[in-house]
Amino acid sequence: AKRNPERRFVYYEPGMREQSGFHLGLENDMRRAIAGSEFELHFQPKVDLDTRQVIGAEALIRWRHPTRGLVSPAEFIPIAEETGLIWEIGCWTLYEACRRLAGWTASGLSLPSVSVNLSPRQFQDARLVGLVTSVVEETGIDPSRLELELTESAMIGDIEKAVAILGGLKDIGVRLSIDDFGTGYSSLAYLKRFPIDTLKIDRSFVRDIVKSATDPAIVSTIVNLAESLGFDTIAEGVETEQQATILRNHRCSRIQGFLISRPLDVISFETFVRESSAA
Ligand code: C2E
Ligand code: CA
Ligand code: CA
Ligand code: CA
Repeated sequence: AKRNPERRFVYYEPGMREQSGFHLGLENDMRRAIAGSEFELHFQPKVDLDTRQVIGAEALIRWRHPTRGLVSPAEFIPIAEETGLIWEIGCWTLYEACRRLAGWTASGLSLPSVSVNLSPRQFQDARLVGLVTSVVEETGIDPSRLELELTESAMIGDIEKAVAILGGLKDIGVRLSIDDFGTGYSSLAYLKRFPIDTLKIDRSFVRDIVKSATDPAIVSTIVNLAESLGFDTIAEGVETEQQATILRNHRCSRIQGFLISRPLDVISFETFVRESSAA
């Protein structure tokens, strides 16, 4: 049922929700998956474009469903958002990512930071700052090595509230990045009020950058904007050396994408990081 009108997400009335067996099936399965630890995190390296040194990794959730196989987050995260199960899943993800980071630090794996995605509903949950505080304390990680990736859509609406939440997160000492930047509605007036660290240039601007007449200019504009506001940039979805070269020419110096590596399970990721720091 509809509750607090300030909340930006939509509560569906029981009759409104998509009644497809697929969705309902997934929803029930998700409740079981949370209890039965069917989720795992894969990690995709982020690198410095010139040196190809690993500067961090993005944690991406995977669901090993007993009968459906590996279910993509693009499929179940929206359902988790809609049903509120995202809170449970998000707690697990944050703990798991920080536990991994703590383990890697203890074992001497050289990984500067780990980033975790937060969906809009997680961002707007009043428990978020408390959760991040507990996770940082309990896992003992250096908070500046944890980055939270937020989309613009999480922050539009009540700007004062968003600024307050972001401020609460910054006070813990974590880093904040705007994911899929350029696809949402951030106005410059809002952007300068957000205490964020990084703009993550959306894959849609990278995809056609080699052929497009406009996308290089868009990337260049984002890089300049970030520079003047004191933010870093990283481009996501980089698949080819040509794309990387154009990004470098437009002064974007960090990249993530299949060119470097697909998201990897923990074992493969550890090998990747070891080999690239040995090189
Ligand atoms: P995102 O945060 O924009 O993550 C990037 C997505 O692009 C990932 O898909 C990644 O595997 C994919 N990708 C990375 N490099 C390339 C590339 O070079 N080319 C192409 N074509 N794709 C690339 P994935 O893992 O399926 O995740 C999809 C979305 O699901 C994510 O988009 C994010 O919004 C959401 N998601 C994933 N994990 C989590 C999580 O733990 N919590 C929350 N709230 N959302 C998550
Ligand atoms: Ca992301
Ligand atoms: Ca993204
Ligand atoms: Ca995305």
